[in-house]
Amino acid sequence: MRSLFLNADIATLDDAHPAGRCLLVNDGVIEGVLDDAPTGLPWAVKVIDCEGGFMVPGFHDCHAHLTATGLLSGKHDLSACRDIDSMLKQLEQLAASEQIIFAGNFDETKLAERRHASLRELDAACGDRPALLSRVDGHSCVVNSAALALLGVDTAQAGVDRDEQGAPTGRLFGPANYAVQVGFVNRMPFKQHRRADREAAGLALSAGITTLHNVIEGDASYEILREIYIDNAVLPLHVIPKSCSTNIGKIKRLGGKLFGGDIFVDGSIGSRTAALEDRYRDLDSRGLLYLRRERLAELFFEAAEAGLSPGVHAIGDDAIEQAVGAWEDVLARRGSLDGLRPSIDHFEIARPDHITRAARLGVFLSMQPAFDYLWGGQGGMYEQRLGQERAVSMNLLGTARRAGCVVCAGSDSPVTNISALLGIHSAVNHNVPAERLSVDEALRCYTCDAAKLSFGEDRCGRLMPGMAADLAILEKRLDSVAADSIKDVQVRMTVVDGVVQYPA
Ligand SMILES: [Zn+2]
Repeated sequence: MRSLFLNADIATLDDAHPAGRCLLVNDGVIEGVLDDAPTGLPWAVKVIDCEGGFMVPGFHDCHAHLTATGLLSGKHDLSACRDIDSMLKQLEQLAASEQIIFAGNFDETKLAERRHASLRELDAACGDRPALLSRVDGHSCVVNSAALALLGVDTAQAGVDRDEQGAPTGRLFGPANYAVQVGFVNRMPFKQHRRADREAAGLALSAGITTLHNVIEGDASYEILREIYIDNAVLPLHVIPKSCSTNIGKIKRLGGKLFGGDIFVDGSIGSRTAALEDRYRDLDSRGLLYLRRERLAELFFEAAEAGLSPGVHAIGDDAIEQAVGAWEDVLARRGSLDGLRPSIDHFEIARPDHITRAARLGVFLSMQPAFDYLWGGQGGMYEQRLGQERAVSMNLLGTARRAGCVVCAGSDSPVTNISALLGIHSAVNHNVPAERLSVDEALRCYTCDAAKLSFGEDRCGRLMPGMAADLAILEKRLDSVAADSIKDVQVRMTVVDGVVQYPA
């Protein structure tokens, strides 16, 4: 069955044929991009009137966490809280109906008190119900006494924050945080996880996303990962499951060419665990480095030999140095990285030489433009943690693109909203003018350039004959609205393989 999308304002991102008015689709594949509606077609055609909407290739989100996005949506999302009191009220309501309370996305830099809730406050709000509040970046959390007891946390270990009397404050960071979060979430029935995946897939579709890299943190068993991979394959958009296991044998058995995304080389700036070359402005520390160049080079080499492309999470300049250096070592040892599409994810505090070296290596940069929107700018979290000088030389989207790096964009949802339009808005309105992208460049980061990361450039990311009919229809052209209102443009329709998946 053919479909004809009529009356659209199409940006194909195909340089040979950049625009059109209608799109003819046959069996999920684009047959033609036309300037005029065809008449007297010899076959039956289903006509879809786009009512003058702006049609673009479906967006790719190159780094998102489906399960956490679903679990931390709705009433479990604390991102709108502006003070501790409102946060505790929301938790009290959850405690009235839930056995285990997993909430998150709080950002203490946006709370009136500029601090996180304490263990005592959570005890008062949630009583004997175990509660875990994941910080917006996921790299630290706050728990109550019942959660510590449920998981049998050794409060003397590193990563358990303690007050002057030596009592836990509830805040966990570093490896203790990751272990407790994984343990806590695994106490929920897996059925609930898969339900969360479906909910998150629906959110992605409503944002015009047709391909999503599902970054699966931690190192679950092969059996659990296999179930997730199978389940992801039947979601109503293209999901690329990426386990962050470092067991290459297991990754090979799972199938696919990509893995990782959040193989942690360091932590985050918000949690002061990103690994820096110079110390934090507001803490006498250089953060935490989890993996060094030598270990990374071993992992990358083993992956490369197996034809697998890993993505590693590196935010601080020290962490980025380890990852870039490790790929240089692998290149020296193998002579070539041909056929691989490795990525460094986040790539926030990159030095100029990191960018030129990444370009030379052909390492993809999987970046999150909305980080700058949320935490960049005067007085923002980056400035608080790093000081002004470093705060204006990070998330270098423009520099990286100009240097010839392939920049692929994503949300890191639930860290930022699962919204490509918020990302495009953030890239176009970057707090540092020299790093701003044009609307066209930002679109490419979410479509044709992003498609390369998953070896998909011949299948999707542009609207041209032979490509999958993966597309989004927006209410207006992005280059016709004021730059500061791009994020408010509505997604009218999302189509995956020729099928309208949003609205459902
Ligand atoms: Zn990450």
